[in-house]
Amino acid sequence: MNELTRRRFLQSSAAAAGALLAGCGPEAPQVSDDVLALHRDARVLDLHLDTLLSMRLLGYEIASRHTNRLPRSPISWHMDLPRAREGGLDGAVMGLVISPREVREELMAPLRWLARLEDERGIDQTLLTLDVLDEAARRHADEMRFCRSGSEMRAAMDEGRFAAFAGLEGSHGIESDLQNVHAAYQRGLRMIGLTHFQASSAAYPMTVAAFDGRGLTPFGRDLVAEMERMGMVVDLAHVNEAGVEEALGLVTRPFVVSHTACRALFDFRRNLSDAQIRAVAERGGVIGLCLARGFVGRPGVEGFVDHIEHAIRVGGVDCVALGSDWDGAIVPVEGLGDVTGLPRVTRVMLERGHSESVIRKALGENALRVLTEVCG
Ligand SMILES: [Zn+2]
Repeated sequence: MNELTRRRFLQSSAAAAGALLAGCGPEAPQVSDDVLALHRDARVLDLHLDTLLSMRLLGYEIASRHTNRLPRSPISWHMDLPRAREGGLDGAVMGLVISPREVREELMAPLRWLARLEDERGIDQTLLTLDVLDEAARRHADEMRFCRSGSEMRAAMDEGRFAAFAGLEGSHGIESDLQNVHAAYQRGLRMIGLTHFQASSAAYPMTVAAFDGRGLTPFGRDLVAEMERMGMVVDLAHVNEAGVEEALGLVTRPFVVSHTACRALFDFRRNLSDAQIRAVAERGGVIGLCLARGFVGRPGVEGFVDHIEHAIRVGGVDCVALGSDWDGAIVPVEGLGDVTGLPRVTRVMLERGHSESVIRKALGENALRVLTEVCG
């Protein structure tokens, strides 16, 4: 299939699936005016949203309102600008999910399948995806802005525009060449996750037990140093334990673990142990808490807030953030089936007695602090 045929095929398949399963969108947030007032006044920033994947693959229109027709399936529309406004989400790190140039055997089947369909991979696809985000921001300049720093995000939020920041999910998207980091930086990339579901030239994925014990590669260490020098945010999500430990010994600037949860509450390989949460917090890192059922392991918004509270108990109030992973082929916990559910997180935190200042930190201020300290 050529590029156009492929895109049409994907678009019509998605439309057909949507038409078949119409109905049953998520319910209204059911929060009081007081809760909503605090939620709307707070700066709410998500450290990991994958909506760009559908934008790149399917021409998903971020400025149009969609209905999440498959709330219990990983294939669904979790976010767009009208619903972000309704849910009080002011900005996000938009993840770039990129097909690797070389597909390795450990890569999960859907991503292998995707990589086989795509001509552009690696750095070419990274640059192309940054253009997709840039083009959307230009087309909808009144509603969103493609931001290169924390202060640009703050400014965009204050103007009532959605603040989009670009984060690469896995360093296979810059292959093993620091020149590619510079090329992507020129086009607006400001965050790189060292690995995704397959070993990259920088680090090993947590999801593959066979890589346990292997830390960063020499290129991985160079990459961390170069990113810090350039003012880019290092993301340790997906990186295995040995890699995280090694990175914690290297970093001199704040960093993030963009989407993860607490292993003490749910024993899942991608979640952080208490020792890791403590170590990340001590090194100035911020942890984005993922609301996927597979990470949370407990029901509902309450279950998700349990993870926020646990991370606060172990690492302190300055280390927590949102890292939803919406639109990243996940099934969200009930009540957070799309971005309009976010005020419920504020409601549950208030009900449990958290102060306004703690809630503001968790909803966005901590995340914004890291992006501002590293990128200006
Ligand atoms: Zn991920």
